[in-house]
Amino acid sequence: MTSILGNGVVITGGPRPDVISCGGVAWHGDRIVEVGPADELRREYPDADVLNAHGGLIMPGLVNVHHHFYSALARGLDAGAPMVNFAEVLDRLWWRLDRALDAETVRLSAELCAAECVRQGCTTVFDHHSSPSFIDGSLDTIAAAVERAGLSAVLCYEVTDRNGRDGAMAGIAENLRFLEARDNDARIRGVFGLHASFTLGDDTLREIARLRPANAGCHIHVAEDPVDGEETRRHFGTDPVTRLERYGLLDDRALLAHAIHLDEDAYATIARCQAAILNNPESNANNGVGRLDVAEIADRGCLVGLGTDGMSSSILRALRFGFLGQRHARADPSAGFEAQPRLLDANVEIARRFFNEPLLGELRVGAPADVIAVDAVPPTPLQAANLFGHLVYAAAEYPVRHTIARGRTLLEDHRHTSVDPAAIANEAAEHSTALWERFHALQWGARYLG
Ligand SMILES: [Zn+2]
Repeated sequence: MTSILGNGVVITGGPRPDVISCGGVAWHGDRIVEVGPADELRREYPDADVLNAHGGLIMPGLVNVHHHFYSALARGLDAGAPMVNFAEVLDRLWWRLDRALDAETVRLSAELCAAECVRQGCTTVFDHHSSPSFIDGSLDTIAAAVERAGLSAVLCYEVTDRNGRDGAMAGIAENLRFLEARDNDARIRGVFGLHASFTLGDDTLREIARLRPANAGCHIHVAEDPVDGEETRRHFGTDPVTRLERYGLLDDRALLAHAIHLDEDAYATIARCQAAILNNPESNANNGVGRLDVAEIADRGCLVGLGTDGMSSSILRALRFGFLGQRHARADPSAGFEAQPRLLDANVEIARRFFNEPLLGELRVGAPADVIAVDAVPPTPLQAANLFGHLVYAAAEYPVRHTIARGRTLLEDHRHTSVDPAAIANEAAEHSTALWERFHALQWGARYLG
């Protein structure tokens, strides 16, 4: 059965995006078969199912390169402890929440976020997971939630030494097991997950370097806060990027979240190794850890993508927030248009490094049918040249009407077809009281290296 999403302004994406007013996209199975004027598509496929974009934007499904599904049940949680710097936020909030998670709350947290990705038009998501009390099989639990929702994902478990040697070894085993299990999977892939240099001892990094498959990639937090560099230098006599390179972890499948507090040499190393930096402007602001100057870092030759870091599942809103943040920080109303538009393209490039899909993220014949419609009817001329203005000043504030992933309609006229987010939230609410009780029973004051 062929389907059409029509009656919208098609933005094809890709290095030279086309804009087709009164356009549409047709797909058969999981592949796009035609992109063009909507009336032509309907003539060509008279029996097709038709979804109506009601004049809004028809775009490629969005990619989020850094998410934490495990963080969803922290909403409204009072840590009951002062948190005056980032190390305390980790120790007193996140490293207690992750230890309090069990199989059930990992599942519900992932289901909630996967549903939110669907609602926000994100069809490919990179998740970075931690649940030290439920490590073995946790990635299967998340993968099942992602599959139920209908998304594509790149998953990992964050290895760390802060919960002792056994915890680190269990994390390594979970990554290896999942990488092997999903080696030939078209929709769900693995990448090797690490927490951050300052909670990883040399023994553990040596073990990872020895066991990690050559093309597995890695997904790690780097210099999110100065504490990463300070502790790494104190214990290991070097900076986090040099350290990762020494263990052979920097290549074109290395995903370095944040990368804020680094020097020129470190950025040069990242660029030389073709590793990707994942910028998370909303969470950087929330944690008060500083800001990545995207334009400056891109000028140094680094590929910079955009994530939400568990703050939300809306990439368009993160794009808008990051754009405004650049202008605010530089006190410069002309900033932002040079590098920010490349963030979404970078996300596509990063996703293509993990999926065998050279057209992923574009509306082209033969591309995977990942298509969304956003209810932002352009009230002014829209061309490829001014697309970014339409995205940050309008589209980010409008709901996504339709989400189609690999040809399957997951959101139709704002209604979920694959999952029921209210039912998931209600079930999560039943479990979150006990989760929070476990959280409050846990001590803080963790040691970074176990
Ligand atoms: Zn993160």
